[in-house]
Amino acid sequence: MAKQQFQAESKRLLEMMINSIYTQKEIFLRELISNASDAIDKIYYRALTDDKLVFNKDDYFIKLKPDKASRTLTITDTGIGMTKDELENNLGVIAKSGSYAFKNENEIKDGHNIIGQFGVGFYSAFMVADVVTVTSRALGSDEAYKWESQGADGYTVEPCEKDAVGTEIILKIKENTEDEQYDEYLDEYRLKTIIKKYSDFIRYPIKMDITSSRPKEGSEGEFEDYTEEQTVNSMVPIWRKNKSELTDEDYENFYVEKRYGFDKPVSHIHIKADGAVVYNAILYIPEKTPFDYYTKEYEKGLELYSNGVLIMNKCADLLPDYFSFVKGMVDSEDLSLNISRELLQHDRQLKMIAKNIQSKIKSQLQSLLKDEREKYEKFYESFGRQLKFGVYNEYGMHKDVLQDLLLFTSSKEKKLVTLDEYVSRMPEDQKYIYYAAGESVERLEKLPQTELVLDKGYEILYFTDDIDEFAIKMIMSYKDKEFKSVSSGDLGIEADAAEEKAEADDNKELFAAMKELLSGKVKEVKASKRLKSHPVCLSTEGELSIEMEKVLSAMPG
Ligand code: ADP
Ligand code: MG
Repeated sequence: MAKQQFQAESKRLLEMMINSIYTQKEIFLRELISNASDAIDKIYYRALTDDKLVFNKDDYFIKLKPDKASRTLTITDTGIGMTKDELENNLGVIAKSGSYAFKNENEIKDGHNIIGQFGVGFYSAFMVADVVTVTSRALGSDEAYKWESQGADGYTVEPCEKDAVGTEIILKIKENTEDEQYDEYLDEYRLKTIIKKYSDFIRYPIKMDITSSRPKEGSEGEFEDYTEEQTVNSMVPIWRKNKSELTDEDYENFYVEKRYGFDKPVSHIHIKADGAVVYNAILYIPEKTPFDYYTKEYEKGLELYSNGVLIMNKCADLLPDYFSFVKGMVDSEDLSLNISRELLQHDRQLKMIAKNIQSKIKSQLQSLLKDEREKYEKFYESFGRQLKFGVYNEYGMHKDVLQDLLLFTSSKEKKLVTLDEYVSRMPEDQKYIYYAAGESVERLEKLPQTELVLDKGYEILYFTDDIDEFAIKMIMSYKDKEFKSVSSGDLGIEADAAEEKAEADDNKELFAAMKELLSGKVKEVKASKRLKSHPVCLSTEGELSIEMEKVLSAMPG
């Protein structure tokens, strides 16, 4: 039998494919399963327009069979199959996608599920296999054909026997080398994990015979092996289900299953968007910071699916830095993928999704703050610092999004308050939002500078996080009220100025002598109205508080 040659370009492309398009070998399984699913979908679409064809969902499945003895992995589907021509055209010509053509011919556009489009996925099989054998019988044909290839040097096609319509792909798995392990692709547990990871939401059952061990009946302490056929994938993803069908527990289980975190999330958001951009998403607001959260090692991002197939583990572009704590996933049909389906080609849709997600997260946090204060405060304890960094970073660009989500400890009952709460209960004569920055609330309370302000009956925000004051400097004012450090020169408290002047005149010489003694260390020695039980205090002139000056002088450069 004469060997058909791959076209010249195809040869080069195949080499390239096998070695460089995909970053991980395990994705060959995602590609072959996606093809099998597409093949079943095609029967489904045929049945929509062909009265003689009945689509009974139970008849359609994908089956995996690893066999360690023969080093083969067999993937069988009950899909539409391929004719001899189709085997030659779709598998013999790289970058030719029968699925893409099918979508066009059948004008399947919106809501389609067919995954294939580039005509390269199949060849990823050669990343793990020395020989790939495809036997197929097309729907409506009694003939079956066998296509076989060892990679770049071409393929053969010959008639063969096959009882059922569909396709069977046998991979002769490569031998282990020093650098690469291939045995794992014959291990049923490893295969199960790969299926769960990439293909859990393929809408047809992916079956496998799984051998497990169980206690032997009638004999204590003895075990026996037994084999049973299992459906490995969950098929209907939780995000495609209706919110009304789902309980909080379902969402929490998904969080655990996906290993988004080890905590119990404070809240989840289930988005089903079908406006300008169509996508489903499930997002979580965690309660606890991951151990590496405030380090450079932490990677933000959401899982990204295209049509139920995992494309990216951590798509960073979907989350702004200030919401980097959010976990979860997005599934969309509208993404333009590049050839490896690992990256996105255009980011317009992605940008739209990201923008949408950002506003959903914000409103979720706002409603938590409003309706479930305790939960919000728990969340804030972990991630408040991130929000404050968010206000400060990029020159305060995002302060409008974030300022209403901030909480600070107030002198009033030492409770956390929002800026809005603070401002709305300010006495009428209070001009500024007062704050004191320092190490701890206990210390700040003892500061002489706070006395006068508290005596006036004004509230003070205690800033104990070193980012606090920086964030506030970016906000500058809230509801037309400027922020004022209690250690700043002019506190804006009535009658201060005149009395201080009078006292200064009385003690002119004393102050001049003190200034000389402290020369270089202070700029001015003045009488102050702000002291009651303390004889002396330090204050700053201009914008920076003492604490902030400390932070700045400690910064490198
Ligand atoms: P894509 O899936 O992007 O079209 P592939 O290289 O994965 O590209 O597959 C090439 C083509 O081969 C598919 O478009 C399809 O027409 C055909 N094909 C592959 N696997 C199967 C299968 N299991 N059953 C039927 N047709 C298949
Ligand atoms: Mg494919």
